[in-house]
Parts: sequence; structure tokens; C-alpha cells
Amino acid sequence: DNKQKESIAEMIRDVTELLKPQARLKGITFEWEQSTDVLVHCDRSQIKQVLINLTKNAIEAMEDEGTIHIQVHTSDRQVVIDVIDQGPGISEEIIHKLGEPFFTTKQNGTGLGLMITKQILDRHNAKLDISQNADKGSTFSIVFQKAADY
Ligand code: ADP
Ligand code: MG
Repeated sequence: DNKQKESIAEMIRDVTELLKPQARLKGITFEWEQSTDVLVHCDRSQIKQVLINLTKNAIEAMEDEGTIHIQVHTSDRQVVIDVIDQGPGISEEIIHKLGEPFFTTKQNGTGLGLMITKQILDRHNAKLDISQNADKGSTFSIVFQKAADY
């Protein structure tokens, strides 16, 4: 266990910088409003891996150029990071299969990204929320429970 209080903003900044070249190839830009920062008790490299998995999926889901929005919300009990794409969304038939080992709809997919994501979030007492956007695409949210000592 290698958990410390880590800056959400720093992790998002690192991951968006890392994936910017891949996004740019498809004409995709990231939009992230860095307002107030939040600290979360977590393993920094593991949560960055989760952000990489979700953001890569968002890039891969988008057929056309567009924007991936990343938003951070906090409430009394939770810290939530939303990764919002403008892809096709997720059909009813497959939504319950997401995160099953080796489930992929991609020609060269491994079907491991969401499984690993769920495993990492389990170890953080956090969860993955998946929802359809009202207009286009889907939102994958990392939901952290705030610890008592925050
Ligand atoms: P892989 O990316 O290798 O296919 P993942 O576990 O990351 O494996 O994702 C599994 C499947 O979930 C994908 O093949 C795709 O069908 C679906 N999926 C994941 N993210 C999205 C997304 N943002 N929009 C639409 N479908 C998605
Ligand atoms: Mg993936």
C-alpha cells in the first residue's frame, strides 16, 4: 500500500499532458476547468493509471474530432472525477459486460482496461460510475468516498 494525500489537479494535468499527442492526432482536445484543487488519499500511480484507461477509452470512442471534458466535483462525502466523451455511448446489450476480463468491442482491444480500473478503485474504496450523456457519448466517473479525517 502506497497511499498518500495526492492532488487531483496534478494527476489530471499529468495524464492530459501524456495523452495530448494521441488526442491531437484525432483532432480531439481536452477541456478541464482547474478550479479549486482537492486532495485524495490514494496511490498516485494507480489512480493515474485509472485516468489513463478512461481517457484513452474516451479518445478511442470518438469517431470525429471533438472535446473530452474532465470535471471534478466534491460534496461533503465524495470526490468525483468525470471523464465525458462525445462518442457513440454504450448500448444496453454491453453495458453489464464492461469490466469483464477480455470483454472488448475493438479489433485490437485487450478488454483489460476497465477490469484493472475496477480492481484499483476497489482498493481505494472508490467506484466506477458509467452513464449516458443526454446529448452524445458517455461519462465514466471515478467516485471516491471522503475519509473521516479530511
Ligand atoms: P479495451 O479498451 O481494450 O477494449 P476496456 O476494458 O478499456 O478494453 O473497455 C472495454 C469495452 O468497453 C470497450 O471495448 C468498449 O466497447 C467499451 N467502452 C469503454 N469505454 C467506452 C467509451 N468511453 N465509450 C463507449 N464504449 C466504451
Ligand atoms: Mg481500454
